[in-house]
Amino acid sequence: MIGLVDCQSFYCSCESVFRPDLKGKPIVVLSNNDHWIIALNSKAKNLGLKRGLKFKESRHIIENGNVEFFSSNYTLYNDMSWRVMETLKDLSPRVEIYSIDEAFIDLSGFKNLAAYGETIRHTIKRQTLLPTTIGIAPTKSLAKVAQRLAKKVDGSLILDTPGNISKALVLTPVKDLWGIGSAYAKRLLSGGIETAADFIKVPEWIVKKEMTSAGWMLQRELKGIPMADLKVEVNPRKGIISARQFRSPVKELSIINEAISYYTELAVEKLRKQNCTTNSISVSLEASGRARHASAETAPTDYLPDIISVAKALLKKIYSHEFEYWRTTIFLFGIEPVIGKQINFFDDNNSKKGYLIKRVDEINDKYGQHTIHPCASEFRDDWGMHREYLSPNYTTRLKDFPVVHAL
Ligand SMILES: [Mg+2]
Repeated sequence: MIGLVDCQSFYCSCESVFRPDLKGKPIVVLSNNDHWIIALNSKAKNLGLKRGLKFKESRHIIENGNVEFFSSNYTLYNDMSWRVMETLKDLSPRVEIYSIDEAFIDLSGFKNLAAYGETIRHTIKRQTLLPTTIGIAPTKSLAKVAQRLAKKVDGSLILDTPGNISKALVLTPVKDLWGIGSAYAKRLLSGGIETAADFIKVPEWIVKKEMTSAGWMLQRELKGIPMADLKVEVNPRKGIISARQFRSPVKELSIINEAISYYTELAVEKLRKQNCTTNSISVSLEASGRARHASAETAPTDYLPDIISVAKALLKKIYSHEFEYWRTTIFLFGIEPVIGKQINFFDDNNSKKGYLIKRVDEINDKYGQHTIHPCASEFRDDWGMHREYLSPNYTTRLKDFPVVHAL
């Protein structure tokens, strides 16, 4: 059996974990630069707010409805997600992290799954204070169906008999099936196929012909035949991009240099977290009506100062003092796992560099991002993202840790 664990209103829940005063209140989280609503809890939805609404335009509903609003704080969400996933790894032998707030878990061989589903929810709640829902079923697609229904009761749902699987399929509109795009949903509806129960009655050869093998696999999974195993390994990213728009156009090379160094630092942090090296670095610089980029190849490396030097040299090539720039981007390609990486025999400093960067990682893990960082990448507010309503990094920055006073 497979379980799908999903955190409820994840971004909003993360914001309220350290703010008990927000309990029961409507909450929204805004996009980068505070433009749009990207996440909201059910209380906020009830007021008529939606994902994708412009913050400025929904301001009156937010103010009249006493809605709490936050800039997106991905440092907090990523760290809370990591805590949930680590907790799940203690509760199941195999975990597939599906998204920041969802994971499939292997429950084969477990007894009394209904009770175990509740144990999982309670354990996550105790360890992270985050609410979850769980669907448990014989296949991933059915687990998704179960989880969608579990959401309605804020709990867990297990589909373990042909009888309750059939009932669940009747209650699932085709448009809500996992992986059915809006185009297929429309076509199915026009053919009178409204629910998942209708969908599994369509002859397999028609599904295969009309909806490719992906549709056919979905149909078989809904019939209880597993077609996809959990993907437990972490796939290293193919490329890492770190880009930001300046708040106002920037002309001075020194400021752009600082920005590119800072965003290189963020990109290399991701690279090192997945234990990989890069051998191809590209930088782009955009002014209105003009974008230039330059690339360079290097020996495989994860050493931040070297990557910053390459990025700055590339920047120098494409910079011209005649323009005002509004965006700069760093790309890292040629990403390979550190194991088996080529050693650069001409660089006898390799082991020293490895030692140094490891200690820097340890200090930054302990005391928070950028506690130690290259002087070149000083964070400046005038090119940073506009995040006026950012919550503290409760779990990753020492000075933001919540303080408990015992009387
Ligand atoms: Mg969720």
